[in-house]
Amino acid sequence: MTQDTGTEIFDAVVVGGRVAGAATALMLARAGAKVLIAERDAEIGDTLSTHALMRPGVALLGKLGLLERLIDAGVPVVNRTRFHYGPEVIDIPVKPMDGVPGLIAPRRWLLDKVIIEAAAEAGAELRLATGFETCLLDEAGRVTGAVLHDRSGREYRVHAKLVIGADGRLSQVASDVGAEKIVQSPNRAATVYGYFPGVQEDGYRWYFGERVAAGVIPTNDGRHCIFTSVHPLAFMEHFGADLLGGMASILSRWDEGLAAHVATSEPDGKLRRFLGAPGHIRACAGPGWALVGDAGYFKDPATAHGITDALLDAERLARSFLDTGTAESYQRERNAHALSLFAATQEIAGFGWGFDRLKVLHQDVNACMKHEMGASTQSTQQVARAA
Ligand SMILES: Cc1cc2nc3c(=O)[nH]c(=O)nc-3n(C[C@H](O)[C@H](O)[C@H](O)COP(=O)(O)OP(=O)(O)OC[C@H]3O[C@@H](n4cnc5c(N)ncnc54)[C@H](O)[C@@H]3O)c2cc1C
Repeated sequence: MTQDTGTEIFDAVVVGGRVAGAATALMLARAGAKVLIAERDAEIGDTLSTHALMRPGVALLGKLGLLERLIDAGVPVVNRTRFHYGPEVIDIPVKPMDGVPGLIAPRRWLLDKVIIEAAAEAGAELRLATGFETCLLDEAGRVTGAVLHDRSGREYRVHAKLVIGADGRLSQVASDVGAEKIVQSPNRAATVYGYFPGVQEDGYRWYFGERVAAGVIPTNDGRHCIFTSVHPLAFMEHFGADLLGGMASILSRWDEGLAAHVATSEPDGKLRRFLGAPGHIRACAGPGWALVGDAGYFKDPATAHGITDALLDAERLARSFLDTGTAESYQRERNAHALSLFAATQEIAGFGWGFDRLKVLHQDVNACMKHEMGASTQSTQQVARAA
């Protein structure tokens, strides 16, 4: 039987305690809202994701006072990005700006932990090993809370003005509220990545070749995340015999030294693989509910933008809810930014480009980021005032 004491009443219940959910809870709690985070996992550890952050995401972490915590924990600051289009290299300095010293790429076990700890410090209540079952609805069909279960399987009800699905790409909250998919894309890349010691590289490097891509991302603990991506239909051809050998063979197209290093060094732990998934943009708000992060908007990792967008979603939703008690303006703003970045990302993930077209797509992504950066600056000032 589902227990309902009638006393579990919150301003917001956030389902999912990683970057999107933790950041949303943090901003709401700092503004004085009573927030519950229900996270299915028993701990916030690592997850399947590389973790290069882009400027709007880093800027927001700075404004939330979390950037220093991450840098103090050993995350290096990145001040250049190099794009390799076959043999051509374009070197772009990442200048310190608006209090942002550069870019960062913290491991997810660190980034998500730092944000969730800050949310808890701000007064958000975190319940681990707590799963979402279904939404509670009133007679008009408005979401008024959720049924959760604890680690023993006991089900209970919590009531809230807003239930926020931050439960990832396969969001159960999105299915439960019937959030419509506004746009979908079948394009996807298959990725193999790992963590390597002894790599001499101080910036982000993105490599592109014929139907392949790769990258090097400096991260904490003196390690570099190195990934290689291919069209999913070519996965077995590249990686069928040996994941490490497949990575080295792809990297040798641009850098024989790096390829040899990867082939001969011992990565930390196992190499991880992601065979790709179709992209979607879902409606992200309705009566009594909202979706943030991948739950509302999943695009291929090809542009390394999911975490940055999850943070921006959190900020837009927090402001919308604090200003109006609804998620309506959040949905408008999210859509205004999401569509063009989604289109460019999914085209990049499809591997159907030549280098000239790819450069145009990268310029599109850069224009989207500038747009996001401007909107985020205004928005954060408002959330900070509310807090
Ligand atoms: C291979 C790969 C590489 C990537 N590389 C990058 C990159 O370099 N840069 C970048 O910005 N992005 C990258 N991304 C994208 C990034 O990982 C996502 O955009 C990001 O994880 C979204 O965060 P989120 O909080 O929305 O969801 P998630 O990180 O998926 O977290 C969802 C949380 O919800 C919880 N949950 C799920 N269901 C329930 C339930 N029923 N009840 C309670 N809790 C539940 C889960 O346990 C999880 O903790 C990559 C993704 C992949 C797969």
